[in-house]
Amino acid sequence: MQENKGLNRRNLLMGGLGLGTAAATTSIFLGGFWSNRSQAREGVFEIVKTDAEWRKLLTAQQFSVMRQEGTERPWTSALLNEKRDGAYHCAACDLPLYASKDKYDSRTGWPSFTRPIAENAVGTKIDRKLFMARTEVHCRRCGGHLGHIFNDGPRPTGKRHCINGVALKFVAANTSS
Ligand SMILES: [Zn+2]
Repeated sequence: MQENKGLNRRNLLMGGLGLGTAAATTSIFLGGFWSNRSQAREGVFEIVKTDAEWRKLLTAQQFSVMRQEGTERPWTSALLNEKRDGAYHCAACDLPLYASKDKYDSRTGWPSFTRPIAENAVGTKIDRKLFMARTEVHCRRCGGHLGHIFNDGPRPTGKRHCINGVALKFVAANTSS
């Protein structure tokens, strides 16, 4: 609930910045409902930085993918062959996004997962570029673009989270005892 409060505060700020006081007032009365809708809106995230700030933190390729919704060339990610136990974190803000147990070989050339590590780890929006509607997926915390979700994945979810490897950082499970 801490997170919802934060988002509501941000909604109120945005209201003051020109979205209109009606929207801000609505956020007070609709609470969680409005917060969830706002999460998918570009720019309303827990971690907000300017492009200049992101450029300092990310490589040129990461910036192109994560902040400009670019796509890495297929078969270029070292993570394609990563088979160890662990978690795949957001390359920009380090939030755990995907678990190794949900990774599979989609033979598409991009790291693929059947689901995120937690339901609220990622956010989605409809992407109408390329003359079709695709489901864009991004980090819930910083808004960094990750890839797209398709409905041709394997069981149990039938989903394919097709993720740019440069948007992920693999963190191996601690196997030392
Ligand atoms: Zn992130």
